[in-house]
Amino acid sequence: SKIMGSEVERAQQAIHEANKPTIFDKIISKEIPADIIYEDDGCLAFNDVNPQAPVHFLVIPKKRIPMLEMANESDVEILGRLMLVAKKLAQERAPNGYRLVINNGRDGCQSVFHLHIHIVGGRQLGWPPG
Ligand code: AMP
Repeated sequence: SKIMGSEVERAQQAIHEANKPTIFDKIISKEIPADIIYEDDGCLAFNDVNPQAPVHFLVIPKKRIPMLEMANESDVEILGRLMLVAKKLAQERAPNGYRLVINNGRDGCQSVFHLHIHIVGGRQLGWPPG
């Protein structure tokens, strides 16, 4: 689980790497493979390699915004686009409902410092999250 052990440690380590290229840059450039389910000029969506629900994919901007808190006014359009892409794909894959999540920073358990929206669904989700 994300509460115990290594996931938190990875997040704490990763925060020091916040402005460097990440594995998501290599997915965008197709240097490493991913299960890509959508692509346009500004964003990319692919299935999470470690799914937490029957439906679990990520929507990311091609522009490297390391964290949500580093987004600014010039990112208004791409931020809106990410949500519209997320809901279009989610509607198709999890018609009974789904959740969007952005993990930000250490306490948010962010481990990859390239902004991404998680979309999870395909089962009844609990609330509150851990
Ligand atoms: P976060 O904790 O929000 O930073 O989550 C990063 C997410 O990226 C995790 O759910 C990982 O399973 C996922 N992830 C990491 N590397 C890959 C990869 N190569 N392909 C797909 N998903 C990945």
